[in-house]
Amino acid sequence: MSELIPVLTETEIEQHIHQLAQRISDDYRNKNLMMIGVLKGAFVFLSDLMRRLTIPVEVEFVRLSSYGKSHTSSGKIEIPKDLCLDVKDKHVLIVEDIVDTGVTLSTLAAHIASLNPKSVKICALIDKLERRKTDCQVDYACHTVEGGFLVGYGLDYAEKYRNLPAIYHLKL
Ligand code: 5GP
Ligand code: MG
Repeated sequence: MSELIPVLTETEIEQHIHQLAQRISDDYRNKNLMMIGVLKGAFVFLSDLMRRLTIPVEVEFVRLSSYGKSHTSSGKIEIPKDLCLDVKDKHVLIVEDIVDTGVTLSTLAAHIASLNPKSVKICALIDKLERRKTDCQVDYACHTVEGGFLVGYGLDYAEKYRNLPAIYHLKL
């Protein structure tokens, strides 16, 4: 039987997001901010985060695939849904659910950088340190963990658990 061990409660997530939104609002005041959410995992986080900002923001989504139905990365990143909005003259903040090896985000950040935005930074709900393989820098993170497979608040395991309002460590 799989087990769900609490990592962050709803209230803790809310508090972290509130603080993060204040930092981002300060850092991007008077700049053209575009948040690019990575589907599907980041949609819950992004929708809460953007509503806490006190500055204008444009929102875009990309869809990437590296995990499929497994819980170990295949290491090969594809972009089944690319950007539609133009990032030229925009300060891009990539919003991701969780950074693990960093392969997904390094690939995406390089792709976005090639489209000539003013800047590219990374914001993650969870920064997971144990298996980092790239020097991909997470500029804003709500929470840092060493390892473990997390689910809830947008994070899935084989498409399940995204709807949980809190974040859990899934022990299979
Ligand atoms: P990376 O390329 O950094 O190794 O993997 C990043 C992607 O793998 C994340 O966007 C996420 O979709 C998935 N992933 C990595 N760790 C976890 C985890 O603990 N839980 C879930 N649900 N997905 C994860
Ligand atoms: Mg993801």
